[in-house]
Amino acid sequence: MAEYNGSCHCGAVKFSFTAPAITDGLRCNCSICTKKGALMSNFFIAPEDLKIQAEEGVLNTYQFETHTAKHHFCNQCGIYTFHQTRRKPGYFRVNLGCVEGLDTLTLPVVIADGAAF
Ligand SMILES: [Zn+2]
Repeated sequence: MAEYNGSCHCGAVKFSFTAPAITDGLRCNCSICTKKGALMSNFFIAPEDLKIQAEEGVLNTYQFETHTAKHHFCNQCGIYTFHQTRRKPGYFRVNLGCVEGLDTLTLPVVIADGAAF
């Protein structure tokens, strides 16, 4: 297990979590992921395992359709940092591009067929 730290672009939203070594990332073909274009964690993080430090009032949440998933983003810089999933409600995937020490341009990519759910 390794300790990972992440943040949005402006730094108003910071987060940390413990996970096995990150060796790949997830992209998804659902309506919002195709527009975000982010490489997400290919694992879920339990809500108690994601430590979020956000400045007052900067973390916004976008929801649509079933309102099960919660897409969180910094309202200062607009960067999507993590979301609570529809597949496993309450659990998080994080934007690997926000995680320190990862090169998301070289990580192998797994494609999720989110549009089918
Ligand atoms: Zn920000």
